[in-house]
Amino acid sequence: MLKRLLIANRGEIALRIIRACRELDVETVAVYSTADENALHGQLATQAICIGPAKAADSYLNQEALLRAAVITGCDAIHPGYGFLSENPEFADACQAAGLKFIGPSGDVIRRMGSKAAARQLAIGAGVPVVPGSQGTVRDEQEAVQIAREVGYPVMLKASAGGGGRGMRTAANEQEIREAFRTAQAEARACFGDDAMYLEKFIEHPRHIEFQIMADTQGNVIHLGERECSIQRRRQKLIEEAPSFALSPELRAQMGAHAVALAKQAGYVGAGTVEYVLAPDQKYYFIEMNTRIQVEHPVTEMVSGVDLVKEQIRVTSGLRLSLTQEELTLRGHAVECRINAECPRKDFRPSPGTVEFLHLPGGPGIRVDTALYTGCQVSAHYDSMVAKVIAYGSTRLEAIRRMRRALEELVIDGIDTNSNLSHLIMFHPDFIRGHYDTDFVAKHLDELLAISNECDLLVGEEAL
Ligand code: ADP
Ligand code: ADP
Ligand code: MG
Repeated sequence: MLKRLLIANRGEIALRIIRACRELDVETVAVYSTADENALHGQLATQAICIGPAKAADSYLNQEALLRAAVITGCDAIHPGYGFLSENPEFADACQAAGLKFIGPSGDVIRRMGSKAAARQLAIGAGVPVVPGSQGTVRDEQEAVQIAREVGYPVMLKASAGGGGRGMRTAANEQEIREAFRTAQAEARACFGDDAMYLEKFIEHPRHIEFQIMADTQGNVIHLGERECSIQRRRQKLIEEAPSFALSPELRAQMGAHAVALAKQAGYVGAGTVEYVLAPDQKYYFIEMNTRIQVEHPVTEMVSGVDLVKEQIRVTSGLRLSLTQEELTLRGHAVECRINAECPRKDFRPSPGTVEFLHLPGGPGIRVDTALYTGCQVSAHYDSMVAKVIAYGSTRLEAIRRMRRALEELVIDGIDTNSNLSHLIMFHPDFIRGHYDTDFVAKHLDELLAISNECDLLVGEEAL
């Protein structure tokens, strides 16, 4: 087993990793920027080191500083969490070169999957259905127009290096695709330093369904079922659940087997997520693979009883997966709401500041993953996601009811959050029926904000 682990991350995911390590008797080294001097991850780790100024490029993305910190403190591995360097193949290689284990697949696998165009090719090779589209990357506008004519409009132009919902545009006709190509390419260059583009047919009214996979170094690969992540705003997930309302046992088995086949084909090790879009006609298509622990991994943990972060540490230590596909049973239902420091009625403007008072929900079936505490600072330098509330129930309705009351218990004074918006979604008839797709938020947002405003008038305070 690993002895000492450096956590190259911050916030709730750093805490999540520290918790797994404590249970496994693995020591932890936290790193923090000057903006995070009083952050909880530094307090709860075995040891903490300041690695640079607030700007992520100078601290949490500073590879040299991270490697140096790991070597000085005698770590044998680095956990990158999600975001930051978690999908950076050069960092995975640099860890290895420095004699440190990187918690994740090899640099080569990350590189292959990080190019979404190359990942498509890999999926095709593994017999996994992909969205109809370009063979590889698309050189220029003219080629995009040509391929779009073949696959038929609407289409989606996507940055091959893209992530976090950025670098993609839809186009309904030739004029739009010329425009979209330029703007998406410019965004890709600015966000990812790589302007390679590819093209897919835009699947209308899809659900986003993803499969959690886990692989060890002995060649065992399992999937831990799916997560339904169709409640998105601007292609960023907001609410996730497991299992999905939309899958029959047969479809689940098929999509899961394809996810495992893809991981095997790639020589995958560790935790990963195979993402699909599911069309209304029940056809599914691979869109990308995320080679890291996912934000929404807790819903899978709740229904499977498997601690995914401990499993990551086990396989990095060279141990076998703790269970086989046959031993896995999925039970009950889990829902997660991402709590972001943002103001929905001001076009979701980020809302950094001091948390004046915090009260977290608890009781049966509730889990909260957060690094917030009363008096802490929510910095404008980093991701606005500050907490995840997860509700488990023996049925979907019980999980939803628990989520409603958990969000009613939650108090975060001093900053604005999207908590009331998610609370209202828990009452929406289409959500309750499970009748929704990735258009849900865009379609209902005005209505939900209006209801929220009416509630404010009734109780005489600002709710959103
Ligand atoms: P998940 O499905 O785990 O939520 P996301 O795509 O939302 O995956 O990414 C998780 C986190 O990583 C978010 O904080 C997001 O902003 C960040 N992220 C994802 N991809 C990138 C990228 N290519 N560059 C920088 N940050 C990224
Ligand atoms: P990212 O790397 O930013 O997560 P993805 O390729 O996973 O990018 O796509 C993000 C979201 O965009 C998906 O969850 C889905 O809602 C939507 N999407 C992606 N590809 C398609 C497609 N071909 N048709 C329809 N929607 C899509
Ligand atoms: Mg994605």
